[in-house]
Amino acid sequence: MAASFSFQSLHADALVIDGHCDSIGHQLEEGRWLGDRHVQGHVDLPRLREGGVDAQFFACYVPVPYQRHGAVTHALERLDQLHLLAERQPDRFVLARCADDILRAKAAGQIAGIAGLEGAEALDGSIGVLRHFYRLGIRNLGLAWNHRNAACDGVAENRSKGGLTEFGVQVVEECNRLGILLDVSHLSPAGVADVLAVSRQPVIASHSNAYTLCAHPRNLTDAQVEAIAAGGGVVGVTFVDLFLNRQNPQAATLDDVVAQIEYLLSRVGPEHVSIGSDFDGCTLPQDIQDTTSYPQITQRLVERGHPERVIRQILGENLLRVLRSVLG
Ligand SMILES: [Zn+2]
Repeated sequence: MAASFSFQSLHADALVIDGHCDSIGHQLEEGRWLGDRHVQGHVDLPRLREGGVDAQFFACYVPVPYQRHGAVTHALERLDQLHLLAERQPDRFVLARCADDILRAKAAGQIAGIAGLEGAEALDGSIGVLRHFYRLGIRNLGLAWNHRNAACDGVAENRSKGGLTEFGVQVVEECNRLGILLDVSHLSPAGVADVLAVSRQPVIASHSNAYTLCAHPRNLTDAQVEAIAAGGGVVGVTFVDLFLNRQNPQAATLDDVVAQIEYLLSRVGPEHVSIGSDFDGCTLPQDIQDTTSYPQITQRLVERGHPERVIRQILGENLLRVLRSVLG
């Protein structure tokens, strides 16, 4: 069925929010200034503009060596890089602290960044440090990366069967109080269940796919997907080749991304599906080059006959809804 609207105009007009990337780490560790256009990597401001992306979550991930020593400093250094980007490119980039900041940025032709922490290692066991990260602009928190920390077990902790610790419960409660969006990607199964049970606000899985289509432990079971949706949250389909095709990641394509989107739509409906690329943190499907490939997703969804309204929800409106309900 031919669509009555062009994918280009829809993509340009739609609010596009990507729920996860690791790009700020490349700026810190390799000096790849995100204000300039590069050939390497996946995300910078010029390419976000080309790809029609209006807002991008930037994870202040703490690499494994720093998870044991210097985690707070490393997370602060990544967050500092995000602030530097906003300070030096004020006409093109703003750090969003609430949902309206994202809409204002789009209206002004700017790109909005949403700052996140990926792993409670960066909190060093302190609620005060969490509060201070909030003051510095952190609005998204994943309690664990793949390993165990003071707040929660990650998905690679196969033996312990652990979820939230007592400190982890305090972190969830304080995030609810402050207005920090909780993220269950990378958490152990018990951790996902605990966060959903304790949080009074919607939570997201910023970059995880459906386990039914790709049986990788980083992906979510149908029960997990349904629980996230029941709480009002969203699942962000991710481009990580291994989470699209575990057996043969090199064979992953955009079609696998679309298949994930369509599977989640069939499971939980259009209100609970979003996109979290994991750009600059993963190996991509063969036909996705970088963030400039974003319009191809819209094109494919239009070609597949999805209604314009649903495409807009997936591209950004669902994430905006959740951000508004948590951040204000
Ligand atoms: Zn990740």
